[in-house]
Amino acid sequence: MATQEKTPVENAQLKDIISHAKEYGFIFPSSEIYDGLQAVYDYGQMGVELKNNIKNLWWKSMTQLNQNVVGLDAAIFMHPLVWKASGHVDSFNDPMIDNKDSKKRYRADVMIEEKAAQYENEGDVERAKALTAEMGRLLEAEDLNGVRELIIREDIKCPVSGTANWTEVRQFNLMFSTQVGSVAEDASTIYLRPETAQGIFVNFLNVQKTGRMKVPFGIAQIGKAFRNEIVARQFIFRMREFEQMEMQFFVRPGTEMEWYEKWRDTRRKWHEAIGVPTDKLRFHDHDKLAHYANAALDIEFEFPFGFKEVEGIHSRTDFDLTQHQELSRKKLQYFDNDLNEEGKPYGNYVPYVIETSVGADRLFLMVLCSAYTEEEITEGDSTKSRTFLKLHPALAPVKAAILPLTKKDGLPEKATEIFDSLKYDFNMIYEERDSIGKRYTRQDLIGTPFCIAVDHQTLEDNTVTVRDRDTREQVRMPISELHSYINKAVSYRSIFEQLA
Ligand code: ATP
Repeated sequence: MATQEKTPVENAQLKDIISHAKEYGFIFPSSEIYDGLQAVYDYGQMGVELKNNIKNLWWKSMTQLNQNVVGLDAAIFMHPLVWKASGHVDSFNDPMIDNKDSKKRYRADVMIEEKAAQYENEGDVERAKALTAEMGRLLEAEDLNGVRELIIREDIKCPVSGTANWTEVRQFNLMFSTQVGSVAEDASTIYLRPETAQGIFVNFLNVQKTGRMKVPFGIAQIGKAFRNEIVARQFIFRMREFEQMEMQFFVRPGTEMEWYEKWRDTRRKWHEAIGVPTDKLRFHDHDKLAHYANAALDIEFEFPFGFKEVEGIHSRTDFDLTQHQELSRKKLQYFDNDLNEEGKPYGNYVPYVIETSVGADRLFLMVLCSAYTEEEITEGDSTKSRTFLKLHPALAPVKAAILPLTKKDGLPEKATEIFDSLKYDFNMIYEERDSIGKRYTRQDLIGTPFCIAVDHQTLEDNTVTVRDRDTREQVRMPISELHSYINKAVSYRSIFEQLA
């Protein structure tokens, strides 16, 4: 079994983020005491809260805000024919190549793309474009030998051995398979789903009929997906077990571009509303479309290792439903009773589909990277640096910390009383160890938006100080106002309002 390789860290910032995530309980390597398992990670006590908040926000943005979008939770295991119909059995491949000296395996297309990026960084944009185009042509024609020759011609070397002693390029299917059934002879091969979307397609009519849904409508799903990625690098950016949040929106054929644009704009607003700076987001239209798509784009975020895909928006035509209709021999059509210009019903058709597909883990990494802040603070003559997570309060794992100034004089009791009155609505931390300054620092490091200090004055007039994570400013307010003060900042409402 492969063990956790040291993540090749592209730059210092990513390295800092990875160790921050580990040190403060966001992300641990899987099975770490056994040296880890490559490209698999566990979310710790802070990570699980942040991830749940991201998923919850996405879920509510889809289902609660849109009357015509409903949810689904399909199984990970599906009938093997599902993956035949979807094309995954035959063509969910990546071209791989091995270096004979280091025995390391690489994705041939990624190595060429990296070479092209190098040309671009050096200012030779034309050469970069020509190289990517040539690779596109070779892959399209399934000319794997040509891809190998291109790697050799470009003098691409293995970063480990430093040689160009390459094997042939081979196609490698990314699906994990396993056996169902206890008796070997009867057992049949099934797959761990490589995407959640197919669970939605095969349930299209179940949901449409039982929910009395009218086209246009959407089905949203959050769930695990598995891909045997050849090169798994860059921390949780590319994992072998990950979570997707996908929504398939079923529309009348001919109206798909209108909906494609609508969902593209909605998703753009969503990313901006959770606090990602606009200059860190890029919308990249696909030059080359998959055979079933008639429009597609990636929403990219500028990670420390460059602009990379976080979410895909795809106009998938009627490809998937038609494929499932053919293999299952069950009709997957919708009867559209609405009237056309001539006053006739539109009748039966297989709906077209707009898909929004985002990885929960990639979103997590995006949120973490954009929140990770280091700043210099000058106090009097001295300057010190501070690291904090500038998370949107709605996403922060802990909403407030209740901190009695000292461990005596009845302050812990008063603080506990405040904690108990707020805990029904907010995830909070109560802490009385160490100096107040140290406790503030600990909360900054996990991104807690508010620190509530309980001091002797609290006992006299029922007021507390509330320290703001980002400005470090403190305001004094009555305990009775705490609930609405915190709630205003942490509720999803401010985000939802920006999506309207
Ligand atoms: P990439 O080009 O990065 O391999 P993809 O185009 O294969 O991604 P899709 O199949 O469109 O990705 O999947 C939709 C989303 O699922 C991606 O935008 C990404 O956020 C997430 N995703 C896909 N593969 C992984 C992975 N191995 N680890 C984490 N997230 C992933």
